[in-house]
Amino acid sequence: MTEPASSILSPTLATPAEQMFPTLTPAQVARIAAHGRVRQVQRGEVLVEAGDQAVPVFVVKTGRIEIVRPSGAGETIVAVHRPGQFTGEVNILSGRRTLARARAAEPGEVIELAREQLLALVQTDSELGEIIMRAYILRRVELIAQGISDVVLVGSNHCAGTLRVREFLTRNGHPYSYIDLDREAGVQDLLDHFEVGAEDIPVLICRGEVVLRNPTNRQIADCLGFNVGIDQSQLRDVVIIGAGPSGLAAAVYAASEGLDVLVLESSAPGGQAGASSKIENYLGFPTGISGQDLAARAYTQAQKFGAQLIIAKGAKALACDRKPYAVEMDDGSRVRARTVIIATGAEYRRPALHNLAQFQGAGVYFGATFMEAQLCAGEEVVVVGGGNSAGQAAVFLAQTAKRVHMLVRSGGLAESMSRYLIRRIEDNPAIDLRTKTEITALEGNGHLERVRWRDNQAGVDETHDIRHVFVMTGASPSTHWLDGCIALDAKGFIKTGPDLSREDLEAAQWPLARAPYLLETSLPGVFAVGDVRGGNIKRVASAVGEGSIAVAFVHQVLHE
Ligand SMILES: Cc1cc2nc3c(=O)[nH]c(=O)nc-3n(C[C@H](O)[C@H](O)[C@H](O)COP(=O)(O)OP(=O)(O)OC[C@H]3O[C@@H](n4cnc5c(N)ncnc54)[C@H](O)[C@@H]3O)c2cc1C
Repeated sequence: MTEPASSILSPTLATPAEQMFPTLTPAQVARIAAHGRVRQVQRGEVLVEAGDQAVPVFVVKTGRIEIVRPSGAGETIVAVHRPGQFTGEVNILSGRRTLARARAAEPGEVIELAREQLLALVQTDSELGEIIMRAYILRRVELIAQGISDVVLVGSNHCAGTLRVREFLTRNGHPYSYIDLDREAGVQDLLDHFEVGAEDIPVLICRGEVVLRNPTNRQIADCLGFNVGIDQSQLRDVVIIGAGPSGLAAAVYAASEGLDVLVLESSAPGGQAGASSKIENYLGFPTGISGQDLAARAYTQAQKFGAQLIIAKGAKALACDRKPYAVEMDDGSRVRARTVIIATGAEYRRPALHNLAQFQGAGVYFGATFMEAQLCAGEEVVVVGGGNSAGQAAVFLAQTAKRVHMLVRSGGLAESMSRYLIRRIEDNPAIDLRTKTEITALEGNGHLERVRWRDNQAGVDETHDIRHVFVMTGASPSTHWLDGCIALDAKGFIKTGPDLSREDLEAAQWPLARAPYLLETSLPGVFAVGDVRGGNIKRVASAVGEGSIAVAFVHQVLHE
């Protein structure tokens, strides 16, 4: 995940290039030297090899370090670091594989900083922390913009699997080169070279070596080493389940307050917010921010404070019969936790159309981001739903689509919809709002081609050649995996704090003299935050607020 470079650049500082490759002052270099070790390097010495994990950072005192990418038989120089400059980019924080080789271009002296030393530095020295974090984020944005990566994706815009893989890589902020089978000549040669047929797409060529045919998100995460170096046997102060806004907020606060934090995310960071094209009502972003950009910032921030994130592995069960608790993941492995924060949010309800799943990602979408908007530019689209997220999607898509048909089953837009969105929908000539109307059929061969809907008030059916439907019809809580461990309300949301009745606590055999804390579930030391919690206000701000509040109670439980 990345954000537009403009939003991270400091307007008061040097040029964008200087912020990406800053030259530290002698005093700043001396402060770094106190954290690392000074060593000599020889011309041609490889300091970091592309694909290495948990690599150190080097600050040049004298000499030069080249950053090179192997390409074909030769190599490309991506950057050159001179005295006062430092190596690395965002991957350093997470310990993931590096995308390039760092090599001394001439004999010189460098300061070598192990990853843990770098983390300690950015957490304790705010001036250097800001310079380094900004440079790393800008470098990552540039890598993505230039497609400098260890991943080549061969796919088709008409293929659901391709969209899924692109979304997964984008949401994880992993740069990739994309080859569109439908547009680019000569792709067949590449496929032949790796002995894959067109029926295998999407094909992901990982680190130029491993060829994955229509890989699962887990296979991609494994191949790219997203979860390497994370010790799953360690007993954690807090395990946070879900990396949407509430889980990421909890991770940032918990890690910054010195707790040992592990986050489990079944898909990619960002949650529902990651599916939002632009969040305009979150405090501090007067011009709005896309959900992916917000999540990218939060993800990097959590890593800066030392939180660890396991990607593409969800929680399958909570072993709640003994303490410490254990969270079982969907690959069967377990992590143990003194406390748990459940931040698994909600998933979109799917309209009861028998072939909906068949068109998912091939004309039916559950999020409206820049990527989906590109797929339907200049075409007519349908947005299903009358709540905030549907309204936001309709307004966003109307900027590029020919026409947006907004189908609402009830008599009007939801009362909960923000006033600004209602006005924009009503005033936008490209949005055709149809109330008391619902989709009755989807048709197509591979990709969605036609949509039939029914105006229930007029009793009229219409069929339209529309190839893109955005489903934004409210959400159900992601609590199916809890299986009786925790008290839920009638709709399946988790009950917490004062919402837990005496009967709930008796049924759960609440063992303590004290009542559950705010946000604490019927299990002591297990908290629920964000959209998964009964009574929560379904907003980014409340999710973030609850995630941070829960950490205060985690401290109390840890001291009990
Ligand atoms: C399209 C759209 C637009 C929106 N726009 C706005 C807006 O403009 N302003 C606003 O304030 N709010 C907006 N919202 C609402 C806001 O995004 C949500 O309230 C917020 O994302 C809730 O955060 P959360 O962390 O509680 O849950 P979620 O965002 O739902 O995140 C939950 C995370 O948990 C993961 N997960 C689920 N189950 C498991 C499991 N078993 N194991 C591991 N991980 C799991 C999911 O993959 C997900 O990443 C919008 C929502 C949508 C869908």
